Amino acid sequence: PGRVGALLSSGTPSFSFEFFPPKTDEGERQLFRAVRELESLSPTFVSVTYGAGGSTRDRTVRITRRIAEETTLLPVGHLTCVGSSRDELRSVIGQYADAGVRNVLALRGDPPSGVGTEWRPHPEGLSYAVELVELVRSLGDFSVGVAAFPEKHPEAPDLDADASRLADKAAAGAEFAVTQFFFQSADYFRLVERLDALGCRMPVVPGLMPVTNVAQIERMVALSGAAFPARLAERLHAVDGDPEAVRRVGVEIVVELGQELLDGGAPGLHFYTLNRSTATREAYAALGLGSR
Ligand code: FAD
Repeated sequence: PGRVGALLSSGTPSFSFEFFPPKTDEGERQLFRAVRELESLSPTFVSVTYGAGGSTRDRTVRITRRIAEETTLLPVGHLTCVGSSRDELRSVIGQYADAGVRNVLALRGDPPSGVGTEWRPHPEGLSYAVELVELVRSLGDFSVGVAAFPEKHPEAPDLDADASRLADKAAAGAEFAVTQFFFQSADYFRLVERLDALGCRMPVVPGLMPVTNVAQIERMVALSGAAFPARLAERLHAVDGDPEAVRRVGVEIVVELGQELLDGGAPGLHFYTLNRSTATREAYAALGLGSR
């Protein structure tokens, strides 16, 4: 089975898609329609998120198992420290191994009471993602990925501290990173330069969010704290009320950003699909990703 860390170092730009585990059977059917539509593009990997507070543990493992068993795709299972003891984390990692999932994105997770509230680890759990990287590595032959933040993690005091924490995760055995979504390529390149200065060459895959409606992007930006440049907001607001045009502009924006990132040497692009395939397929086609 493929190791994402090795695939990202191959020199050919990767592209990958992120899904979340749906709550309902209908949601799961819709997800697998999107999975099937995106499968034909032969992405490098697809990843499945782990719900806030560990709430989707069973669903996340089940969906990654279905992807591993029923499709040709390479799944990456997310895992967070939230609300779990070390033993519980060990058990989920064992479930991933049993499901044939050998690529894991090791995350701390957000405080159960919400982003911006104080982080308190589970009394028998782990405090930071770096410890989860070590735990996953100690339990088997996994390729472990981690989160990166081009505009820094909200709790990090500054960009230098944030880059050092990321380099620590690489030193603990992480083989790749995927970023939070962002809209200015300079933020990504600045992070990679800081890592480079720290002697860290871990591939960092930029995460891209294709905008499909204006309200959604405003909500996401408010939640993540990502800067949404006024010139982009103006382009979207100019077509607000015309859903088709908003989608077209959203795809244009992501394609421009993706092109800048690849031209500047990013190892690939990771698309936040929100379990839908259309905008992602349009961006993929416009970037000529399959033909590189
Ligand atoms: P860490 O790397 O532990 O960092 C958290 C904070 O602690 C940072 O501010 C860091 O600077 C600081 N820090 C780290 N180590 C130390 C130390 N030794 N001493 C002091 N401070 C330290 N959340 C989910 O719930 N489920 C998901 O599936 C999920 N997927 C994600 C995928 C991606 C690509 C990204 C970018 C984020 C994802 N998240 C997910 C959100 C993530 O869990 C949160 O952003 C969380 O707040 C930080 O996680 P982390 O793994 O970066 O934590």
